[in-house]
Amino acid sequence: MLGLMQNQPLLISSLIEFAERHHGDAEIVSRRVEGDLHRYTYREVAGRARQVAGALDSMKLQFSDRVATLAWNGYRHLELYFGVSGSGRVLHTLNPRLHPEQIAWIANHAEDQVLCFDMSFLPIVKAIHGNCSTIKQYVALCDADKLPADSGIPNLVSYEAWIAAQSSDYAWPSFDENSASSMCYTSGTTGNPKAALYSHRSTILHAYAAALPDVMCLSARDSILPVVPMFHVNAWGIPYSAALTGAKLVFPGPGLDGKSVYELIEAEKVTYAAGVPTVWQMMLGHMKPAGLKFSTLKRTVIGGSACPPTMIHAFQEDYGVEVLHAWGMTEMSPLGTLCTLKNKHLSMSKEEQMKIRLKQGRAIYGVDMKIVGEDGKEIVWDGKAYGDLYVKGPWIVAEYFKGEGGDPLVDGWFPTGDVATIDPDGYMQITDRSKDVIKSGGEWISSIDIENIAVAHPAVAMAACIGVRHPKWDERPIIVVVKKPGAEVTREELIKFYEGKTAKWQIPDDVVFVDAIPMGATGKILKTRLREMLKDYTLPSA
Ligand code: AMP
Repeated sequence: MLGLMQNQPLLISSLIEFAERHHGDAEIVSRRVEGDLHRYTYREVAGRARQVAGALDSMKLQFSDRVATLAWNGYRHLELYFGVSGSGRVLHTLNPRLHPEQIAWIANHAEDQVLCFDMSFLPIVKAIHGNCSTIKQYVALCDADKLPADSGIPNLVSYEAWIAAQSSDYAWPSFDENSASSMCYTSGTTGNPKAALYSHRSTILHAYAAALPDVMCLSARDSILPVVPMFHVNAWGIPYSAALTGAKLVFPGPGLDGKSVYELIEAEKVTYAAGVPTVWQMMLGHMKPAGLKFSTLKRTVIGGSACPPTMIHAFQEDYGVEVLHAWGMTEMSPLGTLCTLKNKHLSMSKEEQMKIRLKQGRAIYGVDMKIVGEDGKEIVWDGKAYGDLYVKGPWIVAEYFKGEGGDPLVDGWFPTGDVATIDPDGYMQITDRSKDVIKSGGEWISSIDIENIAVAHPAVAMAACIGVRHPKWDERPIIVVVKKPGAEVTREELIKFYEGKTAKWQIPDDVVFVDAIPMGATGKILKTRLREMLKDYTLPSA
């Protein structure tokens, strides 16, 4: 017997329809490439998203055709989120931080038909358009009078002229909720990049889950600043969850330096912000010397790479902001776990609570996880035993776009490539990427633990731990360090700093000072590049 409830497909268009109808006057504020602040409401987002849909129809774009963006977080990008997916096409957010050759490769692989770009990325478009044979239309995200006259880019139109030709009177189509809605290529640390292809259903379920109290806890009373880019896993799904809750959205555009982000938080009464640790490091670096405080910010979700304890501590103790440590992947839409306390933790001391807050958190309903050992058997959740982390759920990839790389699943589970522990309360803690694990004398050393200790030293701006071959121990850890401007610390002082903070045999054998640590396009340390940089390095003890 089937249930007798209405059967409506879960479609992305329903989010913006809802926001228009129930939160029509809630604000969307964007710092534009032009430098000024743009301000309007969900009502206007909805109307202009329908104009985008009309523009795609008038081009005779087919269902599931890909429409690419090269854009910052901003209101026009938001309109494309809803207009492209809502009309049945697939939004493909390209990462402008990649090399132009990689961008062209990805655009060709996705067979993008339209490319919408912020003017900051005009040089990239100039560099790649000759190699992108599937793109029929280039759309510059600007006013008609700002369109460059002699760009050499064929079929170039300004976004404002493109949508102005369309009516906002457009009826969103209804279709199978399992249809593709958007796609995002992974950083591609091995082989060519592969795309996660999200569906309407997976996106809506993820948007619901993300808004839950023990997840991002979003509401119509929030003013949300997603610093995490809209080209990185749909800004962690925030644009969708914001529409679902009617929250105010504040977009930083290209202004990602500490001063710009801080000023935007204060000016727009931001209550909730989301980003990777490096962004917050820049912001705290700006605030501390000037003695600045927050007047409205309450919570910040930090993920993408491990959040150092010093950052959680600084946000909480110096600024009264709760840090929600989160873990996820492009393949997971991206949210997997988020760290919030349970009732039984509330009576614990701050130090004990901090030990929990440092973990990547508990699984969100919709994500199932397990850790397995080398024999493929599941490992006990005791918070100590490490294993390869596997996940499954309705917003986790089943396969990559075009079947690249074959079947990624093992008995229906997705291997994350992360190594983790899970404690009896279900709190997961990442210790490493599986290929970054350091094995010394048969024991594992967590590079994240070693890095967290180094960045707690007042003179250290950034630190990366890697394993180096050792004749006796197989591998020993070394720590590669970038010092804060004007700060001094010696190798001996830093090694001494580890004493009492970790087991003796886990203390790095050496410190290598460098000017910069190579970072990837999604703000993660590129350990492969770092190992290449140090290929001639030999351990003092070897
Ligand atoms: P991406 O698909 O580019 O978002 O990268 C996903 C990977 O980033 C994960 O598999 C982890 O290795 C890493 N990652 C994400 N969040 C965290 C976190 N909170 N702590 C440690 N690593 C993280």
